[in-house]
Amino acid sequence: MALSQVVGRLIGVREHVVDPGGGGAPRVPRPVRAVVVGGGIAGMSAAVVLAERGVDVTVLEAAPTLGGRLGAWPEELPDGPQRNEHGFHAFFRQYYNWRSILRRVDPELGFLKPIPGYPILSAQWPTEEFGKLPPAPPANLLALLLRSPSLRLADLRGMDRDAALPLLTYDPERTYAEFDERTADELLTSLRLPDRARAMLFEVFSHSFFNHEAEMSAAEMIAQFHFYLLGNPEGLAFDCPDEDYATAIWEPLTRYVEKHGGRVSTGTPAARLDRTPDGWRVTTADGTGHDAGHLVLAVDPPALAALVAASPGLPAAAPELVARMSAFGTPGPPYAVARYWLDGDVRADRAVFSGVSRQATLDSVTLYHRLEEEPRRWAARTGGSVIELHAYACEPGVPAEELAERMRVELTTLWPEAADLRVRELRARVEAQAPAFTPGSHAWRPGVRTDADGLYLAGDGIRTEFPSALMERSAATGIVAANHILRAEGAAAEPVRSIRPRGLLARR
Ligand SMILES: Cc1cc2nc3c(=O)[nH]c(=O)nc-3n(C[C@H](O)[C@H](O)[C@H](O)COP(=O)(O)OP(=O)(O)OC[C@H]3O[C@@H](n4cnc5c(N)ncnc54)[C@H](O)[C@@H]3O)c2cc1C
Repeated sequence: MALSQVVGRLIGVREHVVDPGGGGAPRVPRPVRAVVVGGGIAGMSAAVVLAERGVDVTVLEAAPTLGGRLGAWPEELPDGPQRNEHGFHAFFRQYYNWRSILRRVDPELGFLKPIPGYPILSAQWPTEEFGKLPPAPPANLLALLLRSPSLRLADLRGMDRDAALPLLTYDPERTYAEFDERTADELLTSLRLPDRARAMLFEVFSHSFFNHEAEMSAAEMIAQFHFYLLGNPEGLAFDCPDEDYATAIWEPLTRYVEKHGGRVSTGTPAARLDRTPDGWRVTTADGTGHDAGHLVLAVDPPALAALVAASPGLPAAAPELVARMSAFGTPGPPYAVARYWLDGDVRADRAVFSGVSRQATLDSVTLYHRLEEEPRRWAARTGGSVIELHAYACEPGVPAEELAERMRVELTTLWPEAADLRVRELRARVEAQAPAFTPGSHAWRPGVRTDADGLYLAGDGIRTEFPSALMERSAATGIVAANHILRAEGAAAEPVRSIRPRGLLARR
């Protein structure tokens, strides 16, 4: 354990137990059926926990492959098959709940390899390194303020320190009451940071939440600073699978759920939900009805709104849920992912993953041929490289290929050698499925429990009472949904964990 973590522990910066779990039988004492709609992280996390406790669980996934936004699928390239993925993901070390699900299929998490460094690239300023800070606060913050080339003493003097205080006083109620109506952009402007510090230290971070600062709640931004930096005992360094997500995660998790008596059905979109005397019926697109006492809806926000709208019985069964859908179902801005198979490689000292600041489109670069086994083999065989470019919140209405080309050109301004690499293949996508965290959204954000008995929600747009985000929020809400079902049926619940629940300077 690093010294900063020892100091952090003394002031409560450590793993906290949100729900100790337990409290019931190891297996449900009578037959219980549950249907989970959506086979991404949220749905599969719920299914894992339910299946372990003997619940007869069926996962219905619309796509031909599992994983949703962490999905992977086969792709035919002219020189042979390759797996493609929905996009590079950083598995942070404070993702306690997601990691506990992954430990079911790899107890040592050996498939997750540490990624050296977390540089932020800019065409205007020298690279900023986030991955090598001490892991825990307050040492990480002090080191950032002392070491960062983007912040000098004079900048700190000129900064509005009172405006920065909310970043250190995160509170799950007060922060939202005071800041949810304001935008992240207003909050950052009020800090009076020099442009360089704002660009290099704050903007890349805020873009990672798939929302524009001008359209994102300041409270959500404060919550995410707390979750990733100012309340996180594990640091900003992260790990990544060394195989594609289907091989490393989805195939083993499917086998695990099936071994515990569950079923996972891909290519099976849920088309409609109905209340029945004994619970719920999910009718799939082929007309098959799936009856269960409990139903977990673990789909992305626009899919949830569409499913609710296609279910004429829901306004009577779950009026509050239905009322929240018009706001919740509107996703954040589109994001773009472009995977390039190129002739030749970039410089050997380029990092596996880099964030990018102040390019019009490009937000991150990942060198897949230095990350996962299959692209590594392809690059060794061909002398080429596999490079993935992301835009986390881009201009609407622009075709995927055009966004891909804009990102490629922007990359060449950061890494000039990339201009010499001929494009062999490109797979480009633009999607809008990420939750929006607009100002005021906390008031209508649905939680796991709905106003209808036996109907639960899970996913990265669902509210939690403890710090969480992105993949970790999906896994945590999936587990919390499963726990509601297990407790209702008399079975032991699963522990839920998170980081320090409040900011370092938050009042009790
Ligand atoms: C490009 C990109 C990069 C990212 N990077 C990171 C990162 O570095 N770190 C991080 O923590 N997070 C990252 N994320 C976010 C992360 O992917 C999501 O938070 C997480 O995967 C969401 O999981 P989920 O289960 O909540 O939703 P989803 O993954 O959206 O799963 C929902 C599932 O429901 C299915 N579905 C929809 N409608 C129906 C229906 N009617 N019937 C049946 N099934 C249906 C969908 O097909 C999908 O499989 C990234 C996301 C993207 C897009």
